[in-house]
Amino acid sequence: MGKKIKFFQSVHFKIAMVFVLLLLISVEIIGAIFIRELEKNTITSFEDTMNSQVELLAANLSGELSANEAESDAALKRMVISFAKNDIFEVRVVDDKGIVRATSDVNQQSVIGQKNDIAALNDFTEKRHEEEDKDSGRRVYINVQQIKSQTGDAVIGGLYVKSDIESRYNEVSDTAMIFFTASMIAMAISLGVAMLVARTITKPIGEMQQQAQRVAQGDYSGVLEVHGQDELGQLAQTFNELSVRVEDSQETLEAERHRLDSVLSHMTDGVIATDRRGKVIIINDKATMLLGSPEENSVGKSILDLLGIQEDYTLRELLEGHSEKMITIDNLKDEQTVLQADFAMIRRESGFISGLVCVLHDVTEQEKNERERREFVSNVSHELRTPLTSMRSYLEALADGAWEDPKIAPKFLNVSLVEADRMIKMINDLLNLSRMDSQRSPLELELVNLNELVNYVIERFEMMIKSENRNYTIKKEFTQRSIWLDIDPDKIIQVLDNLMNNALKYSPDGGQITCRLLETHNNVIISISDQGMGIPKKDVRRVFDRFFRVDKARSRAMGGSGLGLAISKEVITDHGGTIWAESVEGKGSTFYVSLPYEEIEGDEWD
Ligand code: ADP
Repeated sequence: MGKKIKFFQSVHFKIAMVFVLLLLISVEIIGAIFIRELEKNTITSFEDTMNSQVELLAANLSGELSANEAESDAALKRMVISFAKNDIFEVRVVDDKGIVRATSDVNQQSVIGQKNDIAALNDFTEKRHEEEDKDSGRRVYINVQQIKSQTGDAVIGGLYVKSDIESRYNEVSDTAMIFFTASMIAMAISLGVAMLVARTITKPIGEMQQQAQRVAQGDYSGVLEVHGQDELGQLAQTFNELSVRVEDSQETLEAERHRLDSVLSHMTDGVIATDRRGKVIIINDKATMLLGSPEENSVGKSILDLLGIQEDYTLRELLEGHSEKMITIDNLKDEQTVLQADFAMIRRESGFISGLVCVLHDVTEQEKNERERREFVSNVSHELRTPLTSMRSYLEALADGAWEDPKIAPKFLNVSLVEADRMIKMINDLLNLSRMDSQRSPLELELVNLNELVNYVIERFEMMIKSENRNYTIKKEFTQRSIWLDIDPDKIIQVLDNLMNNALKYSPDGGQITCRLLETHNNVIISISDQGMGIPKKDVRRVFDRFFRVDKARSRAMGGSGLGLAISKEVITDHGGTIWAESVEGKGSTFYVSLPYEEIEGDEWD
């Protein structure tokens, strides 16, 4: 917001002031010249009039002064009194002996017949000048004139006239006063007019200034009123057009930014944009998530630090490289995220490099799958090579002549058969797994009584133990209620077979195997515990991995392929359940299978 302009600083005031000052200067100059001229004219004309009148009087007095003294004094007196009107203070007549013969001053009548006491009149020389009257302090005009004899050759006396010139000056100053008052009134009126005129200029300017402020603050709602078609009117019109343009481009910009924002935030890849120095300016949610660092901390940070690659790359290499880079990030859960980062320069049309864009793609899963695939191929090759080499050596021995030996030959053939069977079993297991992986063996669901199904499996094992003369005992702890579940019975039987088999395989003869069947709120849990060798803690989770075996030699000797639990896990996961193991090394292991279970209302199958 622009600060408020003081009235004295405003254009409004300045324009009015210029008007008034111009007027003042012209009035002053005109006034000065006028008053001077007026004064000159007034005073000169007064003096001229006075001079000519005095001359005339002197001529008139000449006759009287030369006549008989007693008569003439009265006539003189009459003449001077009739002459001494309004502007004349005193008229005095002195004869050639310096005796006052007449004066118009009523208070001075006593000087008549006395010696003249006015110095100016003593020598009868003509004098015309202005002086200050000692008594009244006013300016007076003194006029001394010789009175000549009628023949005109002798000076017979003097005439002294003191007239009031002050009143002329006063007239002039009165006129000056009137002029001054008039000019003051004119000034006041013109000030008012100037203010009004200035206002018509500054009002639209003020409105424009306010509108410009609003536009600067992003408020485009106001429209300027166009006063007339002059320059200011056109300016206001242009301003209105301008603010519409600004609004339009602002809106376009906003829309563009929103679009960019929503594209960025809905992208499945992380995007980071930096400035020329590699400082992060934009980072989308996905990138923040992938990198596991909050956005506030990321903006402004160097991209090298953010990605943790400051030791491997320089900004220059990223800018020039164009290549993709693999970055491994350790996230909070101690899991590694592998990101593929593609870098590209942001270039202006001028070729100026204004920054860098980095697209992050989460390839953790891909990398893991790739690693697993490689491991799997190597595992399969390895698993097949062992039985094949042993078969080959037996077959070689037979071919070398052992086939003729009736004692060795059947034994060797038998071993070869066992190895071949083992390979077939493994291949079958692998095919099973692969079918399940590619969803090619859909579950064939049936509503089954789980209690019966588990019982059936256990009974089969009990019979097998009996027939093989072994001493395992199988203990059952089942819930009283029958549990009906939608499952694929063949596959669940396969899982249970595998778990029971493992329990027997990995525990000594004579041990007890406990099978439990229990229900929780919305799951049923089957557990199979043995009293065998157990599984080391670090391996408990890994026993479900393909080909994983705690003790390879022993497992193989027992005919295991390392795929049983992997298949079991697939089956249970397909059913929406979970499988896990708990084990104490040397004491025994428990394998749990949990399946989702919803109790059927009314239990009509009971
Ligand atoms: P295998 O055919 O080798 O038994 P599995 O996938 O069934 O393959 O089992 C994987 C590994 O898990 C076994 O090699 C064994 O080391 C371990 N294991 C499985 N069940 C048990 C158990 N009940 N007690 C101890 N170890 C077990």
